[in-house]
Amino acid sequence: MDAINEVSNVLSNPKNILITSHRNPDGDAIGSSLAMALWLKRRGHRVMVAFPSEYPPIYNWMPAIEEVEIYDVDPEPIVSFIKHLEVSVILDYNSLSRIDKLGALFAEKDLYTILIDHHLFPDPIGDYVLSDTTASSTCELVYQFFKSLEPDRSIDHALAECLYTGILTDTGGFQYATSPALFRAVAELQEIGIETTQIHNLVFNSLEEKSLRLLGHCLSSRMEIIPEFKTGIIFLNKHDFTVFGIQRGDTEGIVNYLLKLRDVHMAIFIRQQPSIIKISFRSKGDFSVEEIAKTYFNGGGHRNAAGGYTKMGLADTLDLIKSILPKYKESLIKPILV
Ligand code: 5GP
Ligand code: MN
Repeated sequence: MDAINEVSNVLSNPKNILITSHRNPDGDAIGSSLAMALWLKRRGHRVMVAFPSEYPPIYNWMPAIEEVEIYDVDPEPIVSFIKHLEVSVILDYNSLSRIDKLGALFAEKDLYTILIDHHLFPDPIGDYVLSDTTASSTCELVYQFFKSLEPDRSIDHALAECLYTGILTDTGGFQYATSPALFRAVAELQEIGIETTQIHNLVFNSLEEKSLRLLGHCLSSRMEIIPEFKTGIIFLNKHDFTVFGIQRGDTEGIVNYLLKLRDVHMAIFIRQQPSIIKISFRSKGDFSVEEIAKTYFNGGGHRNAAGGYTKMGLADTLDLIKSILPKYKESLIKPILV
């Protein structure tokens, strides 16, 4: 039996299904999880969506988001749901290590696992795997998944809102990883009647004042440009988080400002969190920040957007980063063609 028939067979009668996505879920993690939950519920399954940590409040408007369980906030409902779990759906990540203790809860269970993701180097997990690193987003792949299982059924309004949100955020507003197939899918979502401008405003134009002031602080006081390596760095220490009254999600998008500089090919954004230093990397062209995140910072992601962490101090982390740059000088300074 081929893979799609097998998954179709597994989902042909009601199952207990847990959908999980990565820590600090973004628009794609949330959109794909909610779309999948709505779609599975419509088919009569008992479904729970669980994230390891909280999602940014800009997504509070999304369909059925109030039903999401957060492991860091209250693991109890998740632990009890997992007792009778039959199917695990892994979205927008590809290694159970990315979801820490939440992953350990079901890693050893005998489950049917569905993995849909667009990150590089997936772990060999999943009975049904839809892993395509050229896809714009997990939402694009979830759209394809729905189309392969129900070719004749159109996507409904709530599903379209969820899928569109993930595509919008992971492509940075249709800047990266687009394709004719993606625009065709988006055309179908728009035909369903979703308010695309409103979604854009809800997601990209709904900062609180403190976040814009924080951005100002990052750009005026915490930005270092290293022309020799065409690299820009912004860092925030613990004190900044307190002074600006910000939480993790409030720093979303700041890293991208560095790429607005013509002569910056790699952007690095460093945040001192309570127990780790979290780092976001972005690049232009074919320079792979995924390689840097994986080799030196316990992380991964995509060629042009990756992340990782250290357990060192902030100053040591900055020193480590600066000591790595000379190794990549040639590829960092070469002209951007793509
Ligand atoms: P961000 O910088 O927005 O947090 O993440 C950028 C990309 O890198 C996302 O695709 C995200 O999944 C990936 N990423 C971020 N942090 C980590 C990490 O610690 N480990 C791995 N494997 N990927 C990460
Ligand atoms: Mn994604």
